[in-house]
Amino acid sequence: MGDYSRFQWFRSSLDGIKNIGGQWLDILYPPSCLICQTGQLRTICQDCYNQIIEAHAVGCRRCGAFTGKSLCQRCANGNIFNFESAYAFGIYNGALRHAIHRLKYGRRRILGKELGRILAASIADSAPFRSERIQSIIPVPLHSSRLRWRGFNQAELLADVLSVDLGYEVLGALKRARKTPSQVHLRRTERAINVSNAFAVTEPNRVAGKSVLLVDDVLTSLATVNECARVLKLAGADKVFVAALARGV
Ligand SMILES: [Zn+2]
Ligand SMILES: [Zn+2]
Repeated sequence: MGDYSRFQWFRSSLDGIKNIGGQWLDILYPPSCLICQTGQLRTICQDCYNQIIEAHAVGCRRCGAFTGKSLCQRCANGNIFNFESAYAFGIYNGALRHAIHRLKYGRRRILGKELGRILAASIADSAPFRSERIQSIIPVPLHSSRLRWRGFNQAELLADVLSVDLGYEVLGALKRARKTPSQVHLRRTERAINVSNAFAVTEPNRVAGKSVLLVDDVLTSLATVNECARVLKLAGADKVFVAALARGV
């Protein structure tokens, strides 16, 4: 083993031990920004925070797309969704994208809290949510096999923070009825087919007649949230709004 690989091995071993909770290792291995991994703090450094805030954009009031217009061309042409409106904090790029990757693939759970706070503050400040009486938050569920692999559902982490900061109750009212292949390499129409009937409402009586906020980390084609909204409406939900950290462009 060469010097550098020995060093990497040492670092990754420490990472493993730190995850178990060995706080005393902070002396040997000082905590650093969870995103850029520099500095000596436990969460997000000022630079990374500023870069994430810069990703904020105001999107289409109906679908959240960042086209520079308050109503995008597709929605102006009569795009029909099962939800009332979709909102994303910012563009899925740069520091925001990196932060979401660190949360999901680096499994930095605490980033869910930090990013959830940023999302909560922007929701509290945005027009559609100020005028609507939302009663519950529903995180978009992960399939149990992916949940086991990751150890947590990032949408649930965000929903928990929104619940505390905005005062809505969290309802685990949706579940994945079947596993779906990743949407990443699929076209828009294929994505809609891929997720059709992929979700089921587990507690229809707690959803009926309510205005709910569906929460996810990233919105891309909207196929997933549109399908979730469809089954929630079938179960009697009055209105379904969507909020996410980022929207792919
Ligand atoms: Zn940083
Ligand atoms: Zn739109």
